[in-house]
Amino acid sequence: MFPTFTLRYSKLPAHFFEPFTPVTVEKPELVAFNRPLAETLGFEVAAFDERQATDWFSGNDLPPGADPVAQAYAGHQFGGFSPRLGDGRAVLLGEVTDRDGRLRDIQLKGAGCTPFSRGGDGRAPLGPVLREYLVSEAMHAMGIPTTRALAAVTTGERVMRRMPEPGAVLTRVASSHIRVGTFQYFGSRHDGESVRTLADHVIERHYPELLEIEEQNRYLNLLKAIQQRQAELVARWMGVGFIHGVMNTDNTSIAGETIDFGPCAFMERYDPKTVFSSIDTGGRYAYVNQPVILQWNMARLAEAMLPLFDSDEQRAIERATEVVQGFSEQYLDAWLGVMRQKLGLVQEEDSDQELIEALQEAMRVGRADFTLTFRQLGECARSEAGDDALLALFEQDGDIRAWLPQWRARLAREGRDGEEVGRDMHKVNPLYIPRNHRVEQALSAAAEGNFEPFETLREMLADPFEVQPGREAWTLPAGPDEAVFRTFCGT
Ligand code: AMP
Ligand code: MG
Repeated sequence: MFPTFTLRYSKLPAHFFEPFTPVTVEKPELVAFNRPLAETLGFEVAAFDERQATDWFSGNDLPPGADPVAQAYAGHQFGGFSPRLGDGRAVLLGEVTDRDGRLRDIQLKGAGCTPFSRGGDGRAPLGPVLREYLVSEAMHAMGIPTTRALAAVTTGERVMRRMPEPGAVLTRVASSHIRVGTFQYFGSRHDGESVRTLADHVIERHYPELLEIEEQNRYLNLLKAIQQRQAELVARWMGVGFIHGVMNTDNTSIAGETIDFGPCAFMERYDPKTVFSSIDTGGRYAYVNQPVILQWNMARLAEAMLPLFDSDEQRAIERATEVVQGFSEQYLDAWLGVMRQKLGLVQEEDSDQELIEALQEAMRVGRADFTLTFRQLGECARSEAGDDALLALFEQDGDIRAWLPQWRARLAREGRDGEEVGRDMHKVNPLYIPRNHRVEQALSAAAEGNFEPFETLREMLADPFEVQPGREAWTLPAGPDEAVFRTFCGT
């Protein structure tokens, strides 16, 4: 039933990874399995054998043809550099070619101590595993590039965090797990040859169009292309109020996917300074900082790739600097594109940025719920009958009252039918997001053995844009007693 492996990473030079067989677990139980994803990966879902699947997704049995490795990488964590991080509890079983012909990594996270574990236990608690499951799949359903969750298995073992918690293993699927930190691993060792080998692997795998470009410019274009995908990704995060929480360079994917769902959370009341992560005391990874941090991460990538840009170091620095400085424009374009769509605009006007920023300011002053504001604006595009419900989302509605006519005038200049505009907006402005308090409720219940709230959330988040009758309560922000202000890595 397991699709045939098309091994790639484990064929790279031996110092790119450490061979590693998952450590078996006591009493594995499959608690979540993503059938639609399994089908696209080429699993024979009709012949689904739960016992076999449980053994594969817990690491108790290796699927045929797997060549499991722990990948080496480095990374800047909260600005400080660690030259050797690597998969401390993850194992790449190998790559498979999905139904669309794309290569996909299959990785077990929480698979035991590897040569990179550095004092960690190599394991993952159930809560963070289910959290990653829910949030990554929600991101996918919203059309945002992301790693995905194929399965979650409880191990029958306890892991010690702030308290003892049930252990679990997540099967993660990604276009690849190559990170900015993977380049840094070799860059910081001044191993230019490995940087080139890695870059060539990345080009072949993720950016094959660059093979057309002559070699002396190819790698600089790779930097630019990675930066473009990342700019688009972060713009999409900003468009749904997503705060990643740990934008370390080892959590920044070369393929441009959202990766590593630790203390991530969705903003409710709009405040650009919002931070959830308990360990982010300085607010480094606050909502509004995400693009700036991304540019910083791209500068670190550029440093690691430097020898590929020019044999003359000074010249290489100049060329890299120019690309990284270009980030601001790449990001602004991507962000404007996202926000125009959210506001039902199909044409571009110079004043759009001002219009968007005025809305943000109205949301900030009015402490309005991010998700519901954009959703309700879709109703307002249909007719003014939607206005009262919109205003009700704002604690102070003076600014939004002033803003609405400006937006309507802007829409009028495009002359599109309001019904159609509203429909388009509803296709990009989700109604159902993984609200923090709902996620927490689902995880607490699961820790007690009740997976029903998890299942409800999972089903609901798979279809974020269509109204699901009877689920109004799930669209609402946390009440005063439910609000989550802090999220914990605890992973
Ligand atoms: P993360 O915070 O999940 O991005 O992980 C940062 C680094 O710590 C990576 O090298 C992980 O593999 C490692 N790590 C995180 N949790 C554990 C754990 N429980 N055991 C061993 N290594 C871990
Ligand atoms: Mg990580």
